[in-house]
Amino acid sequence: MRRTHGRLRPALAVAVAAALVFTSCTEGDERGGFRPGAADLADPYVPGAGNGGYDVDNYRLAVRYDPPTDRLTGRAVVTATATAPLSRFNLDLAGLDVSRVTVDGGPAGSARDGDELVVTPPDGLPRGARFTVEVDYSGVPTAKADGQLGSGGFLHTDDGAIALGQPWSAAAWFPVNDHPADKATYDIEVTVPDGLAALSNGVPGERTRADGWTTWRWAERAPMASYLTTLVIGDYRVQTGTHAGRPMVTAVPASLPAAGPEAASLARTGEIADFLASRFGPYPFDSYGGVVVSDGRVGYALETQSRPVYGPGFFRGGRPNPGVVAHELAHQWFGNSVALSRWRDIWLNEGFASYAEWLWEEHDGGRTAQRNFELEYAATDWSRPVVDPGRSGLFGTAVYKRGALTVHALRRTVGDDTFFRILRTWTAERRGGNATTEDLIALAERVSGKSLRPFFDAWLVGGTAPALP
Ligand SMILES: [Zn+2]
Repeated sequence: MRRTHGRLRPALAVAVAAALVFTSCTEGDERGGFRPGAADLADPYVPGAGNGGYDVDNYRLAVRYDPPTDRLTGRAVVTATATAPLSRFNLDLAGLDVSRVTVDGGPAGSARDGDELVVTPPDGLPRGARFTVEVDYSGVPTAKADGQLGSGGFLHTDDGAIALGQPWSAAAWFPVNDHPADKATYDIEVTVPDGLAALSNGVPGERTRADGWTTWRWAERAPMASYLTTLVIGDYRVQTGTHAGRPMVTAVPASLPAAGPEAASLARTGEIADFLASRFGPYPFDSYGGVVVSDGRVGYALETQSRPVYGPGFFRGGRPNPGVVAHELAHQWFGNSVALSRWRDIWLNEGFASYAEWLWEEHDGGRTAQRNFELEYAATDWSRPVVDPGRSGLFGTAVYKRGALTVHALRRTVGDDTFFRILRTWTAERRGGNATTEDLIALAERVSGKSLRPFFDAWLVGGTAPALP
């Protein structure tokens, strides 16, 4: 995520009093037989989000969207494994009507409780059971405002829709275990009126037409966090090619010039991804791309997996903006392939993506990373921590800028060779998974052979300016 305006609003100092230790609510005593899965994952940054008791392997989504009526009709086939003996379990789904739920092909009970869909299978699910839940649903999907975090969800546009948002968006258009701790693969089918494009994540599949409707197909084979899914429907100029042997799909609104700054920025996607791969290790996904949207409500860019979405504000100067492309592409390694286990560690995403902007700027003939480090160091408010910044600080300056300072300070402390070995080891060992700040510290200590805890404490959470390395 990057806001359109470079300087982020300072985060309010909000204490998050709840225990921040990530705990599973689903382990424990099995003697009582089957029992309900938890209705959330106890992440205080996103109360109610995610669910306990199972782990999703794959979502197979087939949705039809009709722009004139704003109506979405969907079928979701969710394949999951029970991590506890379940009498019932929850999926997150906001505001849509559910008409039918089955588990393993048989009718199942279902009830709504706010943004939760509670599913009761006819028989309990033993721990370890692989099961499939199928949900038919429809309605007019909505967006949800979330204070400083901006609105997320399903935005109706003049010519279609945009499903986008961090940390919340997926539950606006499909039933989901909506927390990055439960990543899954996706098969996405989107049916829209002929003439409109329907862009999503991953490798494009066969496109078919029937009765005035066109079905677009997408497959994301690498595990993906739910907030990294996207859907962009509308009148777009879509370019499909290949880069490094993998599909490259980019799209800009048809209303924008074919040779404008938006298209020129997206055209550098392959070059920038290759540069980042030379620093971070192999590109982690099967496809590349990017989508620019023109709706002014999208005041940010988001690193939706394999195909970031860029709001219009980044291109207002009339010049290409490779910096924001570098930021969102860096997230493909930091945040997407290696995803958060809990939102308090969001600097693992934004600190590294912001640092990637410095690396790219230096590579592109601009300011050096060292110079950016010096300027930012002088401007930093050290009272704001990087780790556990509070819910209102999730996208605050500390997470981005002090996060990037920490990354560069690590480089100065361990030296270039060890630093880039730490990054490549991280992206290789954690590829497709989840991680915490503790995991990064442990890995950096192992690779460098140095005790780095005092270093990370000072740079991430210390209340005063750390000594320059
Ligand atoms: Zn970001």
